[in-house]
Amino acid sequence: MSGITDTLIIGAGFSGLAAARSLHLRGKKFMLVEARDRLGGRTYTKRFDDGRYVDLGGQWIGPTQDRMYALAREHNVEWYATYNEGKNILDLNRKLRPYTGLIPKMDVLSLVNIDLVLKRLESLARQVPLESPWTAANAKDWDSLTLETFIRKHCHTRDCYKVVRAGLETVYACELNEISLLHALFYIHSGTSLNSLLSIENGAQQHRIKGGMQHLAEQIAAPFHEHIRYNHVVKSIVEDSDGLRVEGSNFSINARQVILAVPPVLARDIHFEPVLPLFKTQLLDKLSMGIVGKVVGLYDKPFWREDGFNGQVVADENKPFQTLFDSSPANGDYGTLLAFCIADRAREFFAHSEAERQSMALEHFTHYFGAKAATPLKYIDYCWATDGWSRGCYAGLYPTGAWTNFRGSLAKPVGRIHWAGTETSDIWYGYIEGAVRAGERAAQEVMHSES
Ligand SMILES: Cc1cc2nc3c(=O)[nH]c(=O)nc-3n(C[C@H](O)[C@H](O)[C@H](O)COP(=O)(O)OP(=O)(O)OC[C@H]3O[C@@H](n4cnc5c(N)ncnc54)[C@H](O)[C@@H]3O)c2cc1C
Repeated sequence: MSGITDTLIIGAGFSGLAAARSLHLRGKKFMLVEARDRLGGRTYTKRFDDGRYVDLGGQWIGPTQDRMYALAREHNVEWYATYNEGKNILDLNRKLRPYTGLIPKMDVLSLVNIDLVLKRLESLARQVPLESPWTAANAKDWDSLTLETFIRKHCHTRDCYKVVRAGLETVYACELNEISLLHALFYIHSGTSLNSLLSIENGAQQHRIKGGMQHLAEQIAAPFHEHIRYNHVVKSIVEDSDGLRVEGSNFSINARQVILAVPPVLARDIHFEPVLPLFKTQLLDKLSMGIVGKVVGLYDKPFWREDGFNGQVVADENKPFQTLFDSSPANGDYGTLLAFCIADRAREFFAHSEAERQSMALEHFTHYFGAKAATPLKYIDYCWATDGWSRGCYAGLYPTGAWTNFRGSLAKPVGRIHWAGTETSDIWYGYIEGAVRAGERAAQEVMHSES
């Protein structure tokens, strides 16, 4: 297929869709090409024949994610509160410690220490300017340290270290030695506060989309669906005197401008002519992805609620999953137990066969919530690191030195190529909200450069 358009958007995740929506609303001519045969990218709602579904990718929204609530409202898509009543479980040193409220059952010294570490991260994060993290007064120092080094220095009890580590691994989706302290602080500030990133109530996990997150992506795309081409993998972007020629094995499209809304690890697989500026190429080479697997048991009802549990677990490194949540649909029609399997724990877990994984997962679900957890209607797991069109999650990770050496060159346009994707957002970096904001910003750039 060959074609010609004004703006070609690459990637139909939330960022590409937000860019397309902006151009569509202003009557601009555009096309959107997507490698997969579906919308949503790192959001993925797996639907079953019986009408049940499970969100295997991004699923929560929360306060200050204003664009997400506005889009849901605009498309008449409802949201509902994440279930959050009853006892939590802390699985520490191979002992289960159920508790209600905010304070886990641990020794006082560890509790005070956890509070101090989180508050310290919180206050340092506020010193990181979102639009230029490398200009923070201590940027060089913070960018030379990993988050792991910081945590080890400030956690004075073993149990404090274990709990903080499990929580932060769930926030960043990596081992804590994979990111610089500066990136960790930027990420916290970008998502408003660490408290927000860790919380359900008043936090980033407060709400779910009815029908699953991909449902919202589909509703956003509905008004301009005829402009979307699936199974179109972009392999090269070549600039000549007429504009840009974007090619894949089954198509060639000429465009005046391009919005590239793919994760950094995948952008670097594209052949650019002329080659990208040095800062951009080198930064693209530096950003790796985190590794997350979602591990899910679907049950005929959320039976743990009847036993007084809210489905939430935090577990130390002795167990395969860092955290568990109740991820059931709005009305609790059926029960969804969701475990996050992250970083080293994911690399180990997903090295097993599916049958072995299922048996390990159900053994742990049963350990937490009793015999009823042993017989789900369905078991599903999904590792994002082996998904070829994401190659990991939740988002690109800045290792030590990357922020200060490359000074945020990811979002800068290169000639007629505009960069979107959650990794180019100052606000809610790594989240769907960030993806939407980045897509809208890139569309603005395109329209501005046209005028
Ligand atoms: C397990 C998991 C849990 C998460 N939880 C949350 C959450 O609860 N809340 C939240 O806000 N965020 C969450 N996230 C993060 C969130 O999903 C992402 O930040 C967001 O979806 C990224 O959107 P994007 O449009 O920037 O990128 P993507 O969604 O990755 O979209 C990029 C698109 O580009 C396509 N593409 C790639 N290469 C090419 C190519 N060469 N040619 C054509 N197309 C290409 C891909 O197929 C993809 O569709 C989670 C992510 C995961 C995986």
